[in-house]
Amino acid sequence: MEINRLSAAGASAWAASSRASTSLANVAGSGRGGNPRRRRSAMISRAASGIVAWPMRASSASTFFFDVIDLGVKVTSGRCSACLDICPTAAFVGPYVLDARRCISYLTIEHAGPIPHEFRESIGNRIYGCDDCQLCCPWNRFAQLGDPAFSPRHGLDSARLSALFAWTEAEFNERLAGNPIRRIGHERWLRNIAVALGNAPNSPEIQAALGSRANHPSPLVREHVVWALARLAATSSAPAPRA
Ligand code: SF4
Ligand code: SF4
Repeated sequence: MEINRLSAAGASAWAASSRASTSLANVAGSGRGGNPRRRRSAMISRAASGIVAWPMRASSASTFFFDVIDLGVKVTSGRCSACLDICPTAAFVGPYVLDARRCISYLTIEHAGPIPHEFRESIGNRIYGCDDCQLCCPWNRFAQLGDPAFSPRHGLDSARLSALFAWTEAEFNERLAGNPIRRIGHERWLRNIAVALGNAPNSPEIQAALGSRANHPSPLVREHVVWALARLAATSSAPAPRA
Protein backbone atom coordinates (compact mmCIF):
# COMPACT_ATOMS: atom_id res chain seq x y z
CA MET A 1 0.00 0.00 0.00
CA GLU A 2 1.28 3.40 -0.93
CA ILE A 3 0.19 6.28 1.25
CA ASN A 4 0.93 9.93 0.77
CA ARG A 5 0.07 12.67 3.20
CA LEU A 6 -1.02 16.06 1.98
CA SER A 7 -1.68 19.02 4.22
CA ALA A 8 -2.86 22.58 3.79
CA ALA A 9 -4.96 25.15 5.58
CA GLY A 10 -5.32 23.19 8.73
CA ALA A 11 -6.71 20.14 7.02
CA SER A 12 -5.04 16.95 6.07
CA ALA A 13 -5.78 14.43 3.43
CA TRP A 14 -4.57 10.91 3.02
CA ALA A 15 -4.11 9.30 -0.33
CA ALA A 16 -3.66 5.62 -0.89
CA SER A 17 -3.03 3.92 -4.18
CA SER A 18 -5.72 1.81 -5.75
CA ARG A 19 -3.81 -1.24 -4.60
CA ALA A 20 -5.19 -0.49 -1.15
CA SER A 21 -8.72 -0.87 -2.37
CA THR A 22 -8.79 -4.62 -2.58
CA SER A 23 -7.63 -5.18 0.95
CA LEU A 24 -9.77 -2.42 2.41
CA ALA A 25 -12.82 -3.55 0.51
CA ASN A 26 -12.26 -7.07 1.70
CA VAL A 27 -11.88 -5.87 5.27
CA ALA A 28 -15.27 -4.25 4.80
CA GLY A 29 -16.57 -7.56 3.55
CA SER A 30 -17.73 -6.03 0.35
CA GLY A 31 -15.80 -7.36 -2.56
CA ARG A 32 -12.84 -6.95 -4.81
CA GLY A 33 -11.02 -4.35 -6.81
CA GLY A 34 -12.79 -3.30 -9.96
CA ASN A 35 -12.60 -1.58 -13.28
CA PRO A 36 -9.84 1.00 -13.18
CA ARG A 37 -11.77 3.25 -15.55
CA ARG A 38 -14.52 3.85 -13.00
CA ARG A 39 -13.56 6.94 -11.23
CA ARG A 40 -15.30 8.05 -8.08
CA SER A 41 -13.80 7.32 -4.69
CA ALA A 42 -16.75 5.11 -3.90
CA MET A 43 -17.74 1.68 -2.79
CA ILE A 44 -20.65 -0.17 -4.30
CA SER A 45 -22.39 -2.75 -2.20
CA ARG A 46 -25.40 -4.99 -2.14
CA ALA A 47 -27.52 -3.57 0.64
CA ALA A 48 -30.94 -4.71 1.74
CA SER A 49 -32.41 -1.91 -0.31
CA GLY A 50 -30.53 -2.82 -3.47
CA ILE A 51 -27.18 -2.02 -5.02
CA VAL A 52 -25.93 1.38 -4.05
CA ALA A 53 -22.81 3.44 -4.33
CA TRP A 54 -21.41 5.18 -1.31
CA PRO A 55 -18.73 7.82 -1.42
CA MET A 56 -15.66 7.77 0.76
CA ARG A 57 -15.48 11.46 1.20
CA ALA A 58 -15.38 14.29 3.67
CA SER A 59 -16.64 13.03 6.96
CA SER A 60 -13.18 11.99 8.04
CA ALA A 61 -11.47 14.87 6.25
CA SER A 62 -9.55 12.17 4.50
CA THR A 63 -8.97 11.14 0.97
CA PHE A 64 -9.01 7.43 0.28
CA PHE A 65 -8.92 5.77 -3.06
CA PHE A 66 -11.09 2.79 -3.76
CA ASP A 67 -11.79 0.92 -6.90
CA VAL A 68 -15.46 0.59 -7.60
CA ILE A 69 -16.39 -2.97 -6.84
CA ASP A 70 -17.52 -4.99 -9.82
CA LEU A 71 -20.62 -6.96 -8.87
CA GLY A 72 -21.21 -8.25 -12.34
CA VAL A 73 -24.07 -5.83 -12.98
CA LYS A 74 -23.50 -3.81 -16.12
CA VAL A 75 -24.85 -0.33 -15.44
CA THR A 76 -22.42 1.91 -17.20
CA SER A 77 -20.31 1.60 -20.29
CA GLY A 78 -17.24 1.56 -18.09
CA ARG A 79 -16.43 5.06 -19.23
CA CYS A 80 -18.76 6.87 -16.81
CA SER A 81 -17.41 10.01 -15.23
CA ALA A 82 -20.73 11.58 -14.20
CA CYS A 83 -19.71 12.19 -10.61
CA LEU A 84 -16.44 13.82 -11.60
CA ASP A 85 -18.20 16.04 -14.11
CA ILE A 86 -21.02 17.16 -11.82
CA CYS A 87 -19.02 18.07 -8.71
CA PRO A 88 -19.57 21.81 -8.13
CA THR A 89 -16.13 22.35 -6.61
CA ALA A 90 -14.10 19.96 -8.75
CA ALA A 91 -13.26 17.94 -5.64
CA PHE A 92 -12.34 14.88 -7.70
CA VAL A 93 -8.90 15.95 -8.71
CA GLY A 94 -8.21 12.74 -10.61
CA PRO A 95 -9.39 9.18 -11.02
CA TYR A 96 -9.96 7.75 -7.52
CA VAL A 97 -8.76 10.98 -5.97
CA LEU A 98 -11.16 13.02 -3.86
CA ASP A 99 -9.65 16.09 -2.25
CA ALA A 100 -11.82 16.46 0.85
CA ARG A 101 -10.68 20.03 1.27
CA ARG A 102 -12.66 20.92 -1.85
CA CYS A 103 -15.77 18.91 -0.97
CA ILE A 104 -18.86 20.86 0.08
CA SER A 105 -19.75 18.19 2.61
CA TYR A 106 -16.43 18.75 4.33
CA LEU A 107 -16.54 22.52 4.00
CA THR A 108 -20.07 22.90 5.41
CA ILE A 109 -19.95 20.19 8.09
CA GLU A 110 -16.46 19.37 9.27
CA HIS A 111 -14.54 22.53 8.51
CA ALA A 112 -14.62 24.90 11.46
CA GLY A 113 -13.18 28.14 10.14
CA PRO A 114 -13.98 30.49 7.31
CA ILE A 115 -15.09 28.81 4.11
CA PRO A 116 -12.40 29.53 1.51
CA HIS A 117 -13.57 32.24 -0.87
CA GLU A 118 -12.85 30.16 -3.95
CA PHE A 119 -15.64 27.73 -3.03
CA ARG A 120 -18.34 30.06 -1.73
CA GLU A 121 -20.11 30.71 -5.02
CA SER A 122 -19.97 27.03 -5.98
CA ILE A 123 -21.65 26.06 -2.74
CA GLY A 124 -24.84 27.69 -3.99
CA ASN A 125 -27.72 27.10 -1.58
CA ARG A 126 -26.28 23.99 0.09
CA ILE A 127 -26.18 24.66 3.84
CA TYR A 128 -25.30 21.19 5.12
CA GLY A 129 -23.43 18.81 2.87
CA CYS A 130 -23.87 17.89 -0.76
CA ASP A 131 -24.95 14.71 -2.50
CA ASP A 132 -24.61 15.65 -6.15
CA CYS A 133 -22.15 12.83 -6.83
CA GLN A 134 -24.65 10.39 -5.30
CA LEU A 135 -27.64 11.71 -7.16
CA CYS A 136 -26.01 11.40 -10.55
CA CYS A 137 -24.57 7.91 -10.08
CA PRO A 138 -26.35 5.34 -12.25
CA TRP A 139 -25.70 2.65 -9.64
CA ASN A 140 -28.05 4.41 -7.27
CA ARG A 141 -30.99 3.76 -9.55
CA PHE A 142 -31.17 0.45 -7.68
CA ALA A 143 -31.63 2.15 -4.33
CA GLN A 144 -35.13 2.08 -2.91
CA LEU A 145 -36.87 4.82 -0.98
CA GLY A 146 -38.98 4.22 2.04
CA ASP A 147 -36.86 4.10 5.18
CA PRO A 148 -38.53 6.69 7.43
CA ALA A 149 -35.19 7.33 9.13
CA PHE A 150 -34.22 9.28 6.03
CA SER A 151 -37.45 11.24 5.64
CA PRO A 152 -37.34 15.04 5.93
CA ARG A 153 -37.92 16.28 9.46
CA HIS A 154 -38.74 19.60 11.08
CA GLY A 155 -39.93 21.01 7.75
CA LEU A 156 -36.33 21.46 6.67
CA ASP A 157 -37.15 20.44 3.10
CA SER A 158 -39.38 23.47 2.65
CA ALA A 159 -37.99 26.09 5.02
CA ARG A 160 -36.90 29.51 3.81
CA LEU A 161 -33.25 30.38 4.32
CA SER A 162 -34.18 33.69 5.90
CA ALA A 163 -36.31 31.87 8.48
CA LEU A 164 -33.52 29.40 9.31
CA PHE A 165 -31.06 32.28 9.57
CA ALA A 166 -33.29 33.91 12.21
CA TRP A 167 -33.16 30.95 14.59
CA THR A 168 -31.58 31.78 17.90
CA GLU A 169 -29.05 29.35 19.31
CA ALA A 170 -31.72 28.01 21.68
CA GLU A 171 -34.10 27.43 18.75
CA PHE A 172 -31.32 25.77 16.76
CA ASN A 173 -30.58 23.35 19.60
CA GLU A 174 -34.22 22.66 20.30
CA ARG A 175 -35.45 22.17 16.73
CA LEU A 176 -32.49 20.08 15.66
CA ALA A 177 -32.38 17.84 18.71
CA GLY A 178 -31.65 14.34 17.45
CA ASN A 179 -30.66 15.65 14.04
CA PRO A 180 -27.03 15.31 12.90
CA ILE A 181 -27.10 18.91 11.73
CA ARG A 182 -27.03 19.99 15.36
CA ARG A 183 -23.42 18.95 15.80
CA ILE A 184 -22.10 21.73 13.59
CA GLY A 185 -23.37 24.24 16.14
CA HIS A 186 -25.21 27.52 15.69
CA GLU A 187 -22.17 29.52 14.56
CA ARG A 188 -21.37 27.25 11.59
CA TRP A 189 -25.09 27.04 10.84
CA LEU A 190 -25.18 30.82 10.44
CA ARG A 191 -21.91 30.80 8.48
CA ASN A 192 -23.31 28.30 5.99
CA ILE A 193 -26.64 30.05 5.59
CA ALA A 194 -24.92 33.39 5.08
CA VAL A 195 -23.09 31.91 2.09
CA ALA A 196 -26.34 30.51 0.69
CA LEU A 197 -28.09 33.85 1.15
CA GLY A 198 -25.26 35.57 -0.68
CA ASN A 199 -25.78 33.20 -3.58
CA ALA A 200 -29.55 33.75 -3.69
CA PRO A 201 -31.31 36.26 -5.93
CA ASN A 202 -31.21 39.62 -4.20
CA SER A 203 -34.35 40.72 -2.39
CA PRO A 204 -35.37 42.97 0.52
CA GLU A 205 -36.07 39.82 2.56
CA ILE A 206 -32.53 38.52 2.09
CA GLN A 207 -30.97 41.92 2.69
CA ALA A 208 -32.90 42.23 5.94
CA ALA A 209 -31.95 38.72 7.05
CA LEU A 210 -28.25 39.36 6.47
CA GLY A 211 -28.47 42.81 8.03
CA SER A 212 -29.93 41.30 11.18
CA ARG A 213 -26.67 39.38 11.72
CA ALA A 214 -24.25 42.15 10.75
CA ASN A 215 -23.34 42.73 14.39
CA HIS A 216 -23.32 39.10 15.47
CA PRO A 217 -20.74 38.48 18.23
CA SER A 218 -18.94 35.88 16.11
CA PRO A 219 -16.30 37.32 13.74
CA LEU A 220 -16.81 34.20 11.60
CA VAL A 221 -20.49 34.98 11.11
CA ARG A 222 -19.87 38.68 10.53
CA GLU A 223 -17.26 38.03 7.86
CA HIS A 224 -19.56 35.71 5.94
CA VAL A 225 -22.40 38.23 6.20
CA VAL A 226 -20.13 40.94 4.77
CA TRP A 227 -19.17 38.59 1.94
CA ALA A 228 -22.81 37.75 1.24
CA LEU A 229 -23.91 41.38 1.12
CA ALA A 230 -21.02 42.24 -1.18
CA ARG A 231 -21.89 39.36 -3.48
CA LEU A 232 -25.54 40.39 -3.59
CA ALA A 233 -24.50 43.92 -4.47
CA ALA A 234 -22.17 42.67 -7.19
CA THR A 235 -24.66 40.30 -8.76
CA SER A 236 -27.46 42.89 -8.59
CA SER A 237 -25.41 45.44 -10.49
CA ALA A 238 -24.20 42.95 -13.07
CA PRO A 239 -25.75 43.38 -16.52
CA ALA A 240 -28.65 41.03 -17.16
CA PRO A 241 -27.73 38.10 -19.40
CA ARG A 242 -28.96 38.34 -23.00
CA ALA A 243 -32.06 36.35 -23.77
S1 SF4 B 1 -20.44 15.67 -2.12
FE1 SF4 B 1 -20.66 17.34 -3.65
S2 SF4 B 1 -18.80 18.61 -3.39
FE2 SF4 B 1 -18.41 16.62 -2.35
S3 SF4 B 1 -17.39 15.36 -3.91
FE3 SF4 B 1 -19.62 14.92 -4.08
S4 SF4 B 1 -20.37 16.36 -5.66
FE4 SF4 B 1 -18.34 17.11 -4.98
S1 SF4 C 1 -21.19 8.28 -11.27
FE1 SF4 C 1 -21.09 6.23 -10.28
S2 SF4 C 1 -20.69 4.79 -12.00
FE2 SF4 C 1 -20.20 6.89 -12.75
S3 SF4 C 1 -17.96 7.10 -12.36
FE3 SF4 C 1 -19.06 7.94 -10.58
S4 SF4 C 1 -19.14 6.21 -9.09
FE4 SF4 C 1 -18.67 5.31 -11.12
